[in-house]
Amino acid sequence: MSSLDKPLKSVVGGVSATKLEEHFGMVTVGDLLSHYPRRYAIHGELTDLDSLPLDEHVTVMAQVRSSSTRQMRGRPNWITEVVVTDGRGELTLVYFHKQQRPRFRIPKQGEFGLFAGKVSAYQSRRQLAHPEFVLQTEEDPDSVSAFAGALIPVYPATAKIASWQIRKTVETVLDGLDDVEDTLPEAVRSAHNLMGLRDAYVALHRPASRDEADAALDRLRFDEAFVHQVVLAQRRRELRALPAAPRMSSAMGLLSAFDARMPFELTSGQRSVGAQIEKEISQDHPMHRLLQGEVGSGKTVVALRAMLAVVDAGGQAALLAPTEILAQQHLRTITSMLGPLAERSRLGGDSHGTTVTLLTGSMTTAQRRQALLDIASGEAGIVIGTHALIEDRVTFADLALVVIDEQHRFGVEQRAALAAKAPDGTRPHVLVMTATPIPRTIAMTVFGDLDVSTLTEIPAGRKEITTHVVAELEKPAHVTRAWERIREEVSQGRQAYVVCPRIGDEPVEGASVMETLSELTRILSGLHVAALHGRMPSDEKDRVMQEFVDGTIDVLVATSVIEVGVDVPNASVMVVLDAERFGVSQVHQLRGRIGRGEHASLCLLITKAPLGSPGRTRLEAIASTTDGFALSRLDLEQRREGDVLGAVQSGRRSTLRLLEVVRDEDIVAAAREDAIVLIDEDPDLLSLPGLRRAVAALSDEDSTDFLQKA
Ligand code: ADP
Ligand code: MG
Repeated sequence: MSSLDKPLKSVVGGVSATKLEEHFGMVTVGDLLSHYPRRYAIHGELTDLDSLPLDEHVTVMAQVRSSSTRQMRGRPNWITEVVVTDGRGELTLVYFHKQQRPRFRIPKQGEFGLFAGKVSAYQSRRQLAHPEFVLQTEEDPDSVSAFAGALIPVYPATAKIASWQIRKTVETVLDGLDDVEDTLPEAVRSAHNLMGLRDAYVALHRPASRDEADAALDRLRFDEAFVHQVVLAQRRRELRALPAAPRMSSAMGLLSAFDARMPFELTSGQRSVGAQIEKEISQDHPMHRLLQGEVGSGKTVVALRAMLAVVDAGGQAALLAPTEILAQQHLRTITSMLGPLAERSRLGGDSHGTTVTLLTGSMTTAQRRQALLDIASGEAGIVIGTHALIEDRVTFADLALVVIDEQHRFGVEQRAALAAKAPDGTRPHVLVMTATPIPRTIAMTVFGDLDVSTLTEIPAGRKEITTHVVAELEKPAHVTRAWERIREEVSQGRQAYVVCPRIGDEPVEGASVMETLSELTRILSGLHVAALHGRMPSDEKDRVMQEFVDGTIDVLVATSVIEVGVDVPNASVMVVLDAERFGVSQVHQLRGRIGRGEHASLCLLITKAPLGSPGRTRLEAIASTTDGFALSRLDLEQRREGDVLGAVQSGRRSTLRLLEVVRDEDIVAAAREDAIVLIDEDPDLLSLPGLRRAVAALSDEDSTDFLQKA
């Protein structure tokens, strides 16, 4: 057994092992060694007590400034208050002693110690109630040597296990640690100048210097990227080896008929990605391609052309959408783009044509029965649907291509369930479209088992979107002006969106659709204002959306349900209320609903967030650019802020802890190259038992978890 697989119980004793398992889920020596220090404390370089995060368990090193114990007035209880300081800030430690005097030694003025507890606030001051502590003066040789020594690891801790207790256990484990099977091939290690795994654990938990700790972190950070990329490289290799039916589109088929009636020229990106897809689906292994691109870059047309190609080849295509609104919208867009080509079964329909069928959860029994029948018989060439498509009873005559829109909302399992509907013994070709452009490394990390195509061009003829941040409290007149702008645009024949953070009575702050609807009905009297949100019955949602598409509705007051995919080129204004309540990518997606036609467009981000606040700054960043890649990078950076060593804090373990995929782009890229080379040479990792073990631990997890969590 590898020394990392040894049960903790056999090394550190039952009590500690049980506690560690209970609070952190640690079972093996490896689990404990992978509990990385959050930071290091240095004697003399004291913790900044001013910045203690509320409600977190912290361990601080400080000196006692004063200490007093007194009986509470008129009660049999005693209270101890110890004020400690790091020379800059102060912190109060409080102990209540029920019906008795203190039964432990109270820290005295002048003493140094480590204090561990949960930060709370009392009369607007930070305090720790009942913290555990170790004093320099205690017999504990560990604490004394730690104080004399250099770097003391401070671990993510809980109320029940303080950092210093974890430290003691780690020490015990390190003392008995034999050779550790390395996860990195020797060649990779020396190429990147990385230390061995055992050395890295020792240096991380018991560093002689800051440099040594940093070197250990570099090594473990690379490990994280590498193991992840090995899993993805293996998965890609397996997927590529699966059998698929080749789908060769005929020159005179539906696709050419469609191309002939398309009202615009494809961009060169659309053309080359299209050619790539056609080539891949004509091979006998499944395509697994990710199509990403800026909002409005025209991903839908690319997907539709791929679907038509497989229909030409006699197969069926399924388009899976994350919401009912989006499925409906795809149905509308696709049938209208296809025109007569979507009317095979009707009189006057094109003889080349096919049938486009919708399947969602809210259809009537009769509608559903018909849809299921069309899908099973092969009558439906293109099937558009929500999660309902994944259900068991949906059987395809010959499922050839699965297109997944807005991938990050679907898990790997759901992808797999749909893939299983292909004819026996084969896999469908898969095309995944992401809503948000994501930086290259994120794509490599999260979708590493897919090949990536990126549409970088925005179709010609688009007019610019101008974005302004409107400070509601500072300039209330500008809000009034925003409504006037909507009226002006509508009088020019345009339409507008107004987006609110909530629907009605949810217990969150921010403008609600309901209130805004009644307010705007008054302010914009004479215009047709209507609401759209997720709690409306789906036939009503569809009716409202249809009326907005038709231009009957002038102003649509909605939640972020319109965030993805909604395509009404005539809409030229978007007003987002309490905009700071939305994330960066979300606002960017919302803004992508305008500027889709030939009209110059205006996006107003209304906010009460004060100048200089994080929310306001974020909105200003969004207003300053329409580059989705830059914004998604900003988004990810913000969401992972402060998460370098701290993700484990609550006791939950995550797979990407040291690595920040945005910051560590180069590491991910290097690890990916090395992983691909390795998997080509040794696909089953026979030469590297340490890596095999790490990969087995990781590959159970869904790599898309990371995005959902972030
Ligand atoms: P997204 O990539 O955001 O999903 P869509 O596929 O919804 O973008 O396309 C946005 C709009 O651009 C749609 O109205 C679509 O018909 C139009 N469009 C797509 N490709 C082109 C093109 N090559 N030239 C002009 N308009 C295009
Ligand atoms: Mg789209």
